[in-house]
Amino acid sequence: MNVLVINCGSSSLKYQVIDASSEQVLAKGLCERIGIDGRLTYQPAGGEKEVSDIPMPTHKEAVRLVLEALVNEKTGALKALSDIDAVGHRIVHGGEKFTKSTLIDDQVIAAVEECNDLAPLHNPANIIGIAACRELMPGVPMVGVFDTAFHQTMPAEAYMYAVPYEYYEKYKIRRYGFHGTSHSFVSKRICEVAGKELGSTKTIVCHLGNGASVSAVLNGESVDTSMGLSPLEGLVMGTRSGDIDPSAIEFFAQKEGLDLAGAVEVLNKKSGVFGVSGVSSDFRDLSDAASKGNERAKIALDLFSYRVAKYVGAYAAAMNGVDLIAFTAGIGENDPGVREAVCKRLGYLGVELDLEQNNTKGQELRISTEASKVGVYVIPTNEELAIARETVALVA
Ligand code: AMP
Repeated sequence: MNVLVINCGSSSLKYQVIDASSEQVLAKGLCERIGIDGRLTYQPAGGEKEVSDIPMPTHKEAVRLVLEALVNEKTGALKALSDIDAVGHRIVHGGEKFTKSTLIDDQVIAAVEECNDLAPLHNPANIIGIAACRELMPGVPMVGVFDTAFHQTMPAEAYMYAVPYEYYEKYKIRRYGFHGTSHSFVSKRICEVAGKELGSTKTIVCHLGNGASVSAVLNGESVDTSMGLSPLEGLVMGTRSGDIDPSAIEFFAQKEGLDLAGAVEVLNKKSGVFGVSGVSSDFRDLSDAASKGNERAKIALDLFSYRVAKYVGAYAAAMNGVDLIAFTAGIGENDPGVREAVCKRLGYLGVELDLEQNNTKGQELRISTEASKVGVYVIPTNEELAIARETVALVA
C-alpha cells in the first residue's frame, strides 16, 4: 500500500510517497512559492533531486504538478496515479474535537474549519491542500493527522490557563500543545530501543528544532507539553520567545509604538535565539559565533539549554520521576553541545552522559552511560512515516 503524505502550508507543500509495507520512501519533495511564482523539487528514491521553476498559481496546480512528477515516464516513482492508495494530511490544529487521526469527509473538514480561529496561519492552508487532493484524486481515502491530537490526554491541571473560566467555555482558550505526531512517534520508539514497556514508562521527549517543545509522556500518554494555545509558549526557539511575562509585552509594545498584533509578531519572528544573539536562528551559526567569542550568541545558547533543562525538571516533577529522555528534531539530533549543556544540569535526576557516544549526529543511539539512572537517547523523528502509519491504520 502506497501512501502520499502531504504537509501543506500557506505557500508551500511538502510531500512524500511511502510504501507502507516496507516503510521505504519512494519519492519526496517540495512545492515552494505557491501563488507567487512556483518551484517544484522532486526526488525519487536513489535518484537525482530535480528542481524546476514552474508557475503554481494555486495549491491545486501544485498538487497536480506533484502527481505528474510522480508518474513521469522517466523519473516517476509510480506507474500510475492508481498506485496511490491513500493520502495522509498533516493538520496543525484539531482543537478539542480531534483526539486522534480521522478519515476525512465533509463533516471532518467543517469541524477542522471551526478550529481555524485557533491556528489562523496553518489550518486554512491545510484545508486548501486537502481540497486540492480530493479534487484531483476523487475516491482515494484521505486521513487527517493532527499536531494537537496526542496531547489531548493532558489533564485539566496541565491544560487550563488560570484565566476567567468563561474564556475557556466561550473561546476554548486552553493549552493544546503541538508536534504531537513527533512526540508520539519518538516516545514509542525510545521504549522499543531501550527495551521498556510503553505502558509503564515515564518518558520526557525534547523535540528541539526551529520550533521546539518538550513533552511528558506517562505510560504512553502525553500528560503535559510546553507549547500552549499556540506554538509560541514554552521553550526559547529559533525566532520565538517562548515563555514571557505578559506584562513585558504591554511594556515593550508601548515603548516601541506597536499594537498587539505587532507585538505578537515580534515574539514570533524576531525573538528567540535569533533575537537575543542578533546572529541567526540556526544553531550551527550560533555555535560558530560563540566559539569566536560572540557573547550574545553564547547567552542565546545558554538561555536555550537552560530553558530545556528547566522543563525536563518540571516534567520529572509532574510524573514523579523519569525513566527515559529523548532528544529529537534538527537540534536534538545533530547538536551534541546542546545535549551536553542540557544533561549537565540533570545530574540530580541521575543523568550521566557518555561524552563519546554523545559526540554523534543524526543517529539513533543511547548517549547516557550504563550507570546512568535515566536512559538518554537520540531518536531521529519521522513525522511523515508516523502520518503514513496512522493513515494505513485507518484505511487498510
Ligand atoms: P527542524 O526544525 O527540526 O528542521 O530543525 C532545524 C534546526 O536544526 C536548524 O535551524 C538548526 O538550528 C538545527 N540544525 C540542523 N542541523 C544541525 C547541525 N548539524 N548542527 C546543529 N544544529 C543543526
